[in-house]
Amino acid sequence: MSRILDGNDPRTILHAAERLGAGDIVAFPTETVYGLGANALNEKAVVKVFAAKNRPEFDPLIVHIGDKDAASPYVTALDPRARQLMDAFWPGALTLVLPKRPVIPDLVTAGLGTVALRMPSHPVALALLRAVDFPIAAPSANPFGYVSPTTAVHVRDSLGDAVDLIIDGGPCHVGVESTVCALTEHQAVLLRPGGVALEQLESVIGPVRPGEPTQTDRRSPGTLLSHYAPRVPVLLLKPGAALPRPEAGERLGLLSLTPRSDARGYTRTEALSQDGNLLDAAAHLFAALRRLDAAGLDRVVIESVPETGLGRAIMDRVRRAAARD
Ligand code: AMP
Ligand code: MG
Repeated sequence: MSRILDGNDPRTILHAAERLGAGDIVAFPTETVYGLGANALNEKAVVKVFAAKNRPEFDPLIVHIGDKDAASPYVTALDPRARQLMDAFWPGALTLVLPKRPVIPDLVTAGLGTVALRMPSHPVALALLRAVDFPIAAPSANPFGYVSPTTAVHVRDSLGDAVDLIIDGGPCHVGVESTVCALTEHQAVLLRPGGVALEQLESVIGPVRPGEPTQTDRRSPGTLLSHYAPRVPVLLLKPGAALPRPEAGERLGLLSLTPRSDARGYTRTEALSQDGNLLDAAAHLFAALRRLDAAGLDRVVIESVPETGLGRAIMDRVRRAAARD
């Protein structure tokens, strides 16, 4: 059974840093979701991450660093936009895709000529990154394709024995994965909406082109159509549409932005926020999806949220939760 250790205890950080240095994998908290980390410069350690998650090797990992200055050994160039974005949003929920240096193994980047870099803001993640002398490659600490973990218990529930050590840093306060922005073309491209809103990026570097989320987009394989998916079938409700009534004997669940009084006959309901705040909604999304998935339902109805700010990341996740391959 995996052990959950308190991330606020300095001994936990030292122990985890030793394990990572020895080539083991460790789950740790970030402000977005929990990550499953390995020494990014050690291929044998990185292989363990892919194996534990059952993650296909065409899906590249994000490389985490503990300081802005730590980026330059891993990238060939840091253009002015990269510096502006790092200054505005690091540490934080923004991942930058930049041309890579050979020191980053091809396994980490799925053979791409670019590397995805992020400096997280969670104090436990930063303490861990600063306790090691290598960058940490870490995807979300969940089986490939399933709902991402936002607590240490989520990690244990879904990865079980595949990871020995889980560092507990409390619930993730952003709750959705980082925004992934590529700076490899003339215009910046949004490869994945996430914890930093598109509007925020554009306020710093001007127009950012949305990437097309297709199943075959090799530039950002994490943008597969079906992802973040609970086992229970999901019906995504169009904005403003009436709630479907449960069929006879049907155990129906509802995930709504705010509490609804018209969910008659529903077996279980979850509201993401009391007042429609999209930051709260993002923070609660994955835990609510997991509770609904565990409730023995036949189907879950998910209400659409406005696609502004963090609403873009929320809708991206729920669309893919609703997609079946
Ligand atoms: P996660 O599974 O949350 O760790 O997110 C990793 C995602 O970041 C991948 O699935 C890709 O979408 C994106 N990513 C990582 N590295 C790259 C890269 N070199 N180029 C483009 N996208 C990347
Ligand atoms: Mg993931």
